[in-house]
Amino acid sequence: MTSVQELKPLIDALSPTYHKLGDDIWDLPQLRWEEQDATSRHIALAEQEGFTVTRDVGGIPTAFQAEKGSGGPLIAFLGEYDALAGLSQESGAAVCRPDPDNTTGHGHGCGHHLLGAGSLLAAVALARHLEAKGLPGRIRYYGCPAEEAAAGKTFMAAAGAFDDVDAALTWHPAGGTGTQSTQGRCLAYAQARFRFTGVASHAGVSPHLGRSALDAAELMNVGVNFLREHMADSSRIHYAFTDAGGTSPNVVPAAAEVYYLVRAETVPEMQELYDRVAAIAQGAALMTSTTVAVTLEGASAEILPNRVLEEALHATLVEVGGVPFDAADQERAAAFCAGFAAEEIRRARVACGMSAEDPKYLHDGVPELGDPAHRPLNKGSSDVGDVSWITPTVQILSSAVAFGTPWHTWQYVAQGKLPAAHKAVSHAATVIAATGLELITRPELLAAARAEHAASTAATPYVCPIPKDLLAPPVVRAAAR
Ligand SMILES: [Zn+2]
Repeated sequence: MTSVQELKPLIDALSPTYHKLGDDIWDLPQLRWEEQDATSRHIALAEQEGFTVTRDVGGIPTAFQAEKGSGGPLIAFLGEYDALAGLSQESGAAVCRPDPDNTTGHGHGCGHHLLGAGSLLAAVALARHLEAKGLPGRIRYYGCPAEEAAAGKTFMAAAGAFDDVDAALTWHPAGGTGTQSTQGRCLAYAQARFRFTGVASHAGVSPHLGRSALDAAELMNVGVNFLREHMADSSRIHYAFTDAGGTSPNVVPAAAEVYYLVRAETVPEMQELYDRVAAIAQGAALMTSTTVAVTLEGASAEILPNRVLEEALHATLVEVGGVPFDAADQERAAAFCAGFAAEEIRRARVACGMSAEDPKYLHDGVPELGDPAHRPLNKGSSDVGDVSWITPTVQILSSAVAFGTPWHTWQYVAQGKLPAAHKAVSHAATVIAATGLELITRPELLAAARAEHAASTAATPYVCPIPKDLLAPPVVRAAAR
């Protein structure tokens, strides 16, 4: 029997429990670092399965690891469960309509409620299989908090959490199925708050006595917007005002804050760009006679691909096939596609190796494994990047939402509890669990993946993108209490 044939019946039998886990986390969406409910639900299931749980990994209250098995290699599955702010949306509704039962106002616009459930399902199924067959091998599930612009895994990595792992597997729900090489690399990033402090004054009577922190923040943004002409095309900089200095135009604002995200293809390129942004902040403070305090909150590396693992994952994916959507799934997806630009849907189909005019709205196929010399660049980021520099790592994208559904939108949230999303959970779990079993039963495969990783990191050593003394925000908050 193949690894897929060994594991698929078990995953099918376990699936309803993990579909419900995802639904429960969708129902109570929690933001980065605050995923206590999601964490306790994951831990309860892991303990029920006989996993030994270690809480507070890296001192972070919503980070944990759960392990089962003995001897053999240590295979890790990475899970996430954080939501995004302000994306409350009614399940299944193809029009923008906040969910009346949502008590937090947040929403799972990136499908992390599915991601955690699918990875835990894979870990549980593989651990059960090893136990039943008396096979050696340790299976470890990582509950990773704060993926969304917060780099939870980078802080866990900096604490040494992944140092003893032989290989790591994960997945992400998406608008099409594929492996890393078909779906592209991602960008390294850093995020920081720039807080300007000036002097308050009456804006009409004594403006000469005031020093505007808002002016400084605005000048910083102007400076950065001019910087864009002189940076690499693939780099990205975005910002949001987190404090615009108050709501009274007749007060010279004494405080203002802008929150920046800086992305580039590699950690060194990102750090160079970040330093230029920080220099512009200093220039803005100088221009306005204010001061600026910079708080770096997190950063993560780009993903280091591993071709051996990609090929192994792809072979498993070919055997499993695409996500088995039916006519009802396609019909529900069509309702969402009706709201997207036709060009975007055609582009998404072509990216999955289909004809632009294919009548399907959900990807149920398997694209070819792409050429590693021509990896497309995904301009997003993932803290899976830092894990990938420490241990050979691979991830599959499993189709969960309609073609053209943008990440981080209400349309993504609305599709998060539909049968199609549940099918993606079981599909991804089958592929990554079976690939994990291959790594355990074929030592030469794991050895080849590790040799490739050693060669890659010898040629380009890992640069941890966060300073040694930088603590995760919840650790900083706990220390301040
Ligand atoms: Zn995500």
